[in-house]
Amino acid sequence: MTKSFSCKDVGIDCTWSTTHESEEAIMSMAKEHVSLVHKEIELSPENYCKFKSLIREADKPRKRVSKDSKKVA
Ligand SMILES: [Zn+2]
Repeated sequence: MTKSFSCKDVGIDCTWSTTHESEEAIMSMAKEHVSLVHKEIELSPENYCKFKSLIREADKPRKRVSKDSKKVA
């Protein structure tokens, strides 16, 4: 299951996001990004937990809904 994390999810005004199957990988990328770009944000254990809780499942590709589903030939 692919998971995703974005700064916006945490309430940061930033377009950065990442997707990965592993939460650990996402957290390590997020930590790196925050320490580089959001130096004002302290990666305290509380924030770490908050970030981790905001990792969500990446949107699954939607199946096309057939327009003709109502028409029964
Ligand atoms: Zn960011």
